[in-house]
Amino acid sequence: MKRNSITILLVAVLVLISCNNTNTSKNASVTTKAEKELIFDRGNKIDSPNFTGDAWLNNLITPEDENRNAVGSVTFSPGSRTSWHSHPAGQIILALNGIGYYQEKGKPVEIIRKGEVVKCPHNIPHWHGASPDSEFIQVAITGRENGPTVWMEPVTDEEYDGYNKD
Ligand code: MN
Repeated sequence: MKRNSITILLVAVLVLISCNNTNTSKNASVTTKAEKELIFDRGNKIDSPNFTGDAWLNNLITPEDENRNAVGSVTFSPGSRTSWHSHPAGQIILALNGIGYYQEKGKPVEIIRKGEVVKCPHNIPHWHGASPDSEFIQVAITGRENGPTVWMEPVTDEEYDGYNKD
């Protein structure tokens, strides 16, 4: 009789442990899936001489008279980046995923990680893009009240590799 009770107890404990394990692995897989999900669609592949490498743009908001901010989600493949450029009314970059690079003329390359925000001052030449080994997804909010983005020369491989040399 006593032995039976112990056996039943053991079975019950084993069932509980296995249930717990199932729940744990289920939760873990949900988290992993959520992390991989994109917040915005990638949009269309960018076909422009102002970009090096493959990048995609999803135009979220087109500027209008009442609100002159352009809002776009850009996905940079590893190693891809914009050319040097400046924004007459500045720009705000929200890092959504991956690891990116940002550099203002005359300053070192900075790493941008998911959840970080960068404020580009107006008329300061800069570039942004993905790091060599990771895609980078950003939402850029660009003021258009003082005119469109001013594009300059492409970022050379030497400039791009600058982060690793410091
Ligand atoms: Mn910019």
